Amino acid sequence: MLPFFSIEQCNTPTSIAEEQQRHDPQKTLEQGFQDTLDEEQNNSPDLLPSPPHSFRGEDAQATVEAPAKRRRLVDGLRPPQTSSKRPIGSVSARKQLLDDNIALTHDSTPRQLQSDSRALPQRRNAVAMRTWKTPRSATTLIASIWKNIYGSIRIGPPATFEQCDIALSTCDINNMNRETFSQINTICLKASQLSTSARALEAIIQAHWMDCYYVRIKVIAAENSRLSPTEAKMAGLGEACSALGWTHKELRNRMTIWRGYKEIKDAGGWVSLVFAGSGIYSTCKYRIGFEDGLIQRLSKLQTCIEVAADTLHPDWRRLLAIVGQSTQQRYTGHPHDWVVSADKTATSLASTYQQWDPKFSFDHLEECIIDSCWQDRDPRQVYSGDIYTCSECGQQQSEYLQNNRCQCFPSLIPSARPAPAPVQVGRCPRGKNNGLFARCGIERGAAVGEFVGLVTSGVEGMDVMLSGHGHDQYQIYQRRTGNYTRFINHSCAPNSQFTKFVWLGIERIMVVSKGIEPGMEITVDYSSSYWTDLEKECLCGESCCPYNQSRTLSVPTQA
Ligand SMILES: [Zn+2]
Ligand SMILES: [Zn+2]
Repeated sequence: MLPFFSIEQCNTPTSIAEEQQRHDPQKTLEQGFQDTLDEEQNNSPDLLPSPPHSFRGEDAQATVEAPAKRRRLVDGLRPPQTSSKRPIGSVSARKQLLDDNIALTHDSTPRQLQSDSRALPQRRNAVAMRTWKTPRSATTLIASIWKNIYGSIRIGPPATFEQCDIALSTCDINNMNRETFSQINTICLKASQLSTSARALEAIIQAHWMDCYYVRIKVIAAENSRLSPTEAKMAGLGEACSALGWTHKELRNRMTIWRGYKEIKDAGGWVSLVFAGSGIYSTCKYRIGFEDGLIQRLSKLQTCIEVAADTLHPDWRRLLAIVGQSTQQRYTGHPHDWVVSADKTATSLASTYQQWDPKFSFDHLEECIIDSCWQDRDPRQVYSGDIYTCSECGQQQSEYLQNNRCQCFPSLIPSARPAPAPVQVGRCPRGKNNGLFARCGIERGAAVGEFVGLVTSGVEGMDVMLSGHGHDQYQIYQRRTGNYTRFINHSCAPNSQFTKFVWLGIERIMVVSKGIEPGMEITVDYSSSYWTDLEKECLCGESCCPYNQSRTLSVPTQA
């Protein structure tokens, strides 16, 4: 089946040819392109991932072409530039364009996305703010697993158990200055970590106890062939009650809960048990969601949960030592070095680009870096207005959490040490490659994240975000370095949008949620300017999609 083409799949043939040419200087661009086309035709049509192309912040003027300046490459991060024209007509040629955020162009200017000109998603405020509500069901436990993984509590025995040494007596209640209050806050956080880890440890041991109990009654039955299965169970219970000092009834009440722990562990792995939080007790006591797909959903999610837990809480498996399980991390590195998939596997990010770019690498950034082409200047600097007053909410902005009053995008506050964004890179359906998936809900108006990459200029033939004003028109380039926003695909019915926001006098491009539920793929509209004169098809699959001719003509509906 012919795949539809998505924007993210469109890499310029030129850039691929350039990559090859770098390896083989004798090869011309055209030869390189033809080679990749040939390779492509031999490959499965189900392909590729890729990131966004060139976009514009919401306030930017529409369709401003980047200046045609050429700048030197910096630290190997900036792409090679070219002015050659490239073929784009055929399906195979277009398939070829997959890999990165590289835009397909008729000329040498960068393909630029434009931000949404519709109204911004309504920002949160005291009246409009709503919490993410989930019905009390299987969803509740799964939501709390993700919340705990992406939350501020660190789980792992050594770090938390050592921290309980802190003496509360150092906090003098008669001298409650900022420092003293900060100390009690620190102790409070550490106590929460200790208690979370202890609760997880208890659930691990109790789930393991059930495994041991089932083995024990088998042994008892084997040793006493005259006993019925019920009698063997009663004998096992009797041994346990004797050691624990509990009555049969007390133990059986507890076993109802412990059996739930075991079922959760068997389906979703130890990781589900460890990160389920305190709600797991009532979930198991009242069997909430067990008849509603909880076990099946945990089984599907186990790998996704392990990837997030291993990379964000590298010590969590040390809790398993007590039941003789391996404490070895299965997934190492940055959380977004892994691509999770519906078939319960996780593969390295680089491997998902192997086909188009065998030397693919990606540096994960927390914030933008400024290309040396700007020398000591940050082109994102805004010169009008008071840099400490937020132009959106009118409140004071400060890099110090205690002085800051602007709550527009709290993740921008340097001293806030925000929790990691609850998102994962995952494989997409319909022939798209990678996409970004929400693990927790992101309410309307809240940031998915800042569009982070190399702030540069003069990049041609590649996907870039274009912004700035006058001489300070700049590009944000994410091909080799950036953050998870690189993996957000286009959709004609997106659930987020790009918007400009000024933080302490520096313009930031934010991806803002229009209402994203847990599990959804996060999408954004790359803008009509991106698609104008671009001969490729959109893979979004939306009924309103105007950029997929074959879909419109021959595939009226698509799941
Ligand atoms: Zn504000
Ligand atoms: Zn579309």
